[in-house]
Amino acid sequence: MEFRDLKKQYQALKERMDKAVIEVMTDCNFISGRQVNELEEKLASYVGVKHCITCGNGTDALSMMLMAWGIGEGDAVFVPDFTFFATGEVVSFEGATPVFVDVDPDTFNMDPVSLEKAILAVKGEGKLAPKVVIPVDLFGLPAEYDRINEIAHRYGMKVLEDAAQGFGGMYKGRKACSLGDAATTSFFPAKPLGCYGDGGAIFTNDDEEAQYLRSIAVHGKGSFKYDNVRIGWNSRLDTMQAAIMLVKFDAFTEYELEDVNKVAAWYTDALKDKVKTPVVPEECYSSWAQYTIQVKSEEERIALQQKLKEQGIPTMVYYPKPMHEQTAFKGLKQYVPCPVTEKLCNTVVSLPLDGYKEVSEVDKIKTHILGESS
Ligand SMILES: *Cc1c(COP(=O)(O)O)cnc(C)c1O
Repeated sequence: MEFRDLKKQYQALKERMDKAVIEVMTDCNFISGRQVNELEEKLASYVGVKHCITCGNGTDALSMMLMAWGIGEGDAVFVPDFTFFATGEVVSFEGATPVFVDVDPDTFNMDPVSLEKAILAVKGEGKLAPKVVIPVDLFGLPAEYDRINEIAHRYGMKVLEDAAQGFGGMYKGRKACSLGDAATTSFFPAKPLGCYGDGGAIFTNDDEEAQYLRSIAVHGKGSFKYDNVRIGWNSRLDTMQAAIMLVKFDAFTEYELEDVNKVAAWYTDALKDKVKTPVVPEECYSSWAQYTIQVKSEEERIALQQKLKEQGIPTMVYYPKPMHEQTAFKGLKQYVPCPVTEKLCNTVVSLPLDGYKEVSEVDKIKTHILGESS
């Protein structure tokens, strides 16, 4: 069994995918071809944001947005303690200081109470200027934006939605990637909407920000490519990846998102009495980047993973280490305790999930998780 079955997805899309890829090779418009523009327009319109700027990957997207906001030395940027490393990495990369915030034990997303405590602790100390909050839509589920936006704006801060795992999700009728002051996503192959390599995008309603981002993504270009008005990067989405994503986007919106929600519901029905299954609040819709259960202890998790592995069922631990325990962040001050994150890192385990799974596969996994008692 595949953890996320990209092979089955390719077989389902093969005819259109092969045609799309061959067209790029025939036209040889490998960089900034018309497919890139077409994709940006489709994604912006789907999400409901004015500008979509594609780029090399989700990490570059976060960094470039922080650059657009002028974030650097002396600034505090609040990120969840329970997330993929890149969310905090980009903050340090820009010379600013990441401040780790605890998460909610049910949704795995940034806890607004812990956020406000962290902001007050930073302000109280008086060394760093609180500038940005980066909530993460972890495992496909949007964070609690009404409360987070309110807190951030009350302290004069901006909100950057890290929707690398969240594309396709919804919060109170609004789409992920439209829920903060700006948003970023990733098209890494295993994300909800992935390409066949690295890719990412930034979403903003602000015309000036969009123009700045398009400039830094291409060597700080001015009115044309060889007019360079600032120091920038080279971070673009290839035409090949855009062509692949145009095919994938149709499948994603036509049936994959619904299908993955159906598979997640099968899991929850099968497992809810035995283990702690993921919670999707009433006002949210998840795009299910992961289906993550919680067991009681690290020992139980090791045993369960071993048992499933023997049956050919792959599992993953996202994430085994809190951000504040990462060696790369050694020496950073921890402004608030993060006991929920510490517990989750020892007890979460993600199960195989995609919209192509059969009910029989979920049944098999269920039988082995429930063991003899089923
Ligand atoms: C994957 C991921 C990123 C980084 O995206 P890349 O395209 O791999 O650079 C950032 N944040 C989160 C939460 C992610 O899951």
